[in-house]
Amino acid sequence: MSLTEKINSVCRSALEKGLVGGVVTLRRTAENAAVHALVTKPDQIEETDPLMPYFPGNGADFVKKLTRIAPPRNKKILVILRPCEMRAAVELTKLAQIQNENIVWMTFDCLGTVPRKEFEDKPIPGGDEFYADLNREDIRPLCATCDFVRTNTADIGFLAFEDGAPFVAYTETGKQFLSELGVEFSEKVADDKFNQIQQKRNQNKAELYERLEKEVKGIDNLVKTFARCVNCHNCMTNCPICFCRECFFESEAMDFEGDIFLDLAERRGGLRAPTDVGLFHLGRMSHMATSCVACGACEEACPEGIIVGQVFKWVSENVQKVFDYVAGRDWEEEVPLRTFREDELTEVTGMS
Ligand code: SF4
Ligand code: SF4
Ligand code: SF4
Repeated sequence: MSLTEKINSVCRSALEKGLVGGVVTLRRTAENAAVHALVTKPDQIEETDPLMPYFPGNGADFVKKLTRIAPPRNKKILVILRPCEMRAAVELTKLAQIQNENIVWMTFDCLGTVPRKEFEDKPIPGGDEFYADLNREDIRPLCATCDFVRTNTADIGFLAFEDGAPFVAYTETGKQFLSELGVEFSEKVADDKFNQIQQKRNQNKAELYERLEKEVKGIDNLVKTFARCVNCHNCMTNCPICFCRECFFESEAMDFEGDIFLDLAERRGGLRAPTDVGLFHLGRMSHMATSCVACGACEEACPEGIIVGQVFKWVSENVQKVFDYVAGRDWEEEVPLRTFREDELTEVTGMS
């Protein structure tokens, strides 16, 4: 059985047996497009392929939409997410944006996705075709430098890199779910191919950070990096972690009287439009750097090709290190922004 069929047969049979009322997965909408979708009919599973190399946005955002007001009460849903999406789901649950009830989480070894613009005029390959070459390099920069091509925070893992591509149950819920479906699963997590691929991604990341240190660090470099920004806020809208219902940067607080703009222009030697680009990016960064999962949904959405996801990954990793935290790594670690410790950051505040 092919990789895609292996995952899809679990989805189909879970729907047929009524174990779940719906499956959240990637569904093809055209030869060159796919979306996250909630599929409720077994025959619709034919159109789905969670492994296809296409990133329409972070799927955790969709789960947030499905559960924020109330989680499904009567039936469970099976949610299949890539590791960076799963990490966002963990983070959003901790931030009270996802209600994690009646959800069976599944994740899989992720080989990455190709920039969406590559598919403007050609079909997206299926997951099986894509996974036939585990050494491929034609993936998004955030994927080539990914820290978590596998995560163990779901109930079920699909070890697509390993020989035989076994399912693994990480939780009792996962064990029960797979057992009820009669699906074989392994208790042991094989990691031979995973280790090789993760190692390569880690090397790529070290090279990327070395480059960013030279090219982006410092205010002048940062201004250059965002010079083409049109302030469309697509990066914010597509970020799963930016969830404020009312954004300060889109509020009237950013509008001033003409005299104030004149003063600003005089002090700065001129005022550029859009007026608040730097403030927007620095503000957004300070709001969500502790929870960024480096998925790159922001970068995929940028019409100007700005490396916004790479910059956020790099800055966020450094911020998270200060708190000894890694966003979405596990369910128990407390989110720094929701945790108050009297004795933290004494070296910054000078107080003990
Ligand atoms: S960032 Fe990592 S987990 Fe997310 S799509 Fe890319 S390789 Fe997969
Ligand atoms: S800032 Fe970009 S990389 Fe980080 S979580 Fe948001 S969309 Fe993903
Ligand atoms: S998506 Fe790109 S152009 Fe739009 S605000 Fe973000 S960085 Fe600027």
